[in-house]
Amino acid sequence: MAHRIDGRKLSRKHGPRMSLYRNLTVSVLRYERVKTTEAKAKEIRGRVERMITIAKRGDLAARRAVIAEFPNEPLVVNKLFDEIAPKYADRTSGFTRIVRLGQRRGQAGARRSRRRRRCVDGHGRRGRGRRPRGRRRRGRLGGAGDHAQQPQHVAHAAHEDRDVLAGQSWQRGQIIVAWDAVLDGAGDPHDGVNVVMHEFAHQLDQDTGAANGAPYVGRGALQQAWARVMNQEFDTLRTRLARAEPGLIEPYAATSPAEFFAVTTELFFEKPAALASERPALYEQLRRCYRLDPAAW
Ligand SMILES: [Zn+2]
Repeated sequence: MAHRIDGRKLSRKHGPRMSLYRNLTVSVLRYERVKTTEAKAKEIRGRVERMITIAKRGDLAARRAVIAEFPNEPLVVNKLFDEIAPKYADRTSGFTRIVRLGQRRGQAGARRSRRRRRCVDGHGRRGRGRRPRGRRRRGRLGGAGDHAQQPQHVAHAAHEDRDVLAGQSWQRGQIIVAWDAVLDGAGDPHDGVNVVMHEFAHQLDQDTGAANGAPYVGRGALQQAWARVMNQEFDTLRTRLARAEPGLIEPYAATSPAEFFAVTTELFFEKPAALASERPALYEQLRRCYRLDPAAW
């Protein structure tokens, strides 16, 4: 599983970069949106537009051309021809839109929407200023006419690339998950990937305010121990990734403390023994947080 460290993708070698773009293009066609960096959004936009243009021709040659591009994605090919292309029958271009997810000041809606924007951008306090540079400016590629509100959290879960939009955790107790991602996560209970656990971890985190990797674990010394250990572990992961050393916790966890908590929650339940042995202090904090000991099950 070749996971990425954000912000460096555009300097990847040709082959992996092409497959990355193809994956992102598939994600856009499948979910009609993807959250990614601005540079990548611009890059894949042309690809998506080209595929839709081909599909609009609707003949056998067009279908073959699209299948050649996505040989392992029959459902996406069908969707492109049966749903997406007909939608744009009366249009020749402009099938996609890039939406900037920045921080804009002085907008109506004030407090709540500002907080929500910040969470999209940085998951709250500790996340700010600690993420790799490439994370800061993001664009989201959405279908034309997409006016969806911005969620608290957008997860990207998949085996190959977490840029597939799989789940969201909203401020007021809702989570939204892609059903295929749910099935995928349940399909192998020991692969360390489970979008449902991931999103509910964000919910627990958000219970105490912004999603910042600090769920309720008790007060005083308990809370301090959590903050100390989790900060240390987060930094350890960042250092490990900077040195390109292998490890159990995937790079996506280094995005922010909120993602760190959500991703390690997945490992805690799906690979407890491995997590306990590789990061014992981290496992111990999660054990206290959840008051469960999956390694003993
Ligand atoms: Zn997440």
